[in-house]
Amino acid sequence: MGDLSENLSRIETSCKCDCGFAVADYQTVIMFEQARAFNGNKPVSPNSWCRCYKYNEVVQLRDNKNYIPGSSKSEHMLGTACDFPASDPKGLYDYFDNLYPDSCGLGLYENFVHFDCRKNKARWVG
Ligand SMILES: [Zn+2]
Ligand SMILES: [Zn+2]
Repeated sequence: MGDLSENLSRIETSCKCDCGFAVADYQTVIMFEQARAFNGNKPVSPNSWCRCYKYNEVVQLRDNKNYIPGSSKSEHMLGTACDFPASDPKGLYDYFDNLYPDSCGLGLYENFVHFDCRKNKARWVG
């Protein structure tokens, strides 16, 4: 039992650098529960949710070869994005794309799906 939703606790959404930033957006929490159900209700914890500016820079420089320092507008810095480790990333990506055809950010990666609850629509393959 989590303290944010049935299966999610605030500590799991906090910035991994231990700065204490942990303002998980409610709509993204709902998406987390949808992703978890789609994934077969297996116990799962987000790879990454909230990121402070400093930690987001660390992640961008690590994961993105062509990253220009300071250029990220990641939704993770707003607490509105979740990187969800999925057993079937393409399946989960398609599920959300069907559920939110005109909104949300969805990123398809090898082992996880990035989702965020932005109002406009954004899609990418990482
Ligand atoms: Zn931090
Ligand atoms: Zn992400």
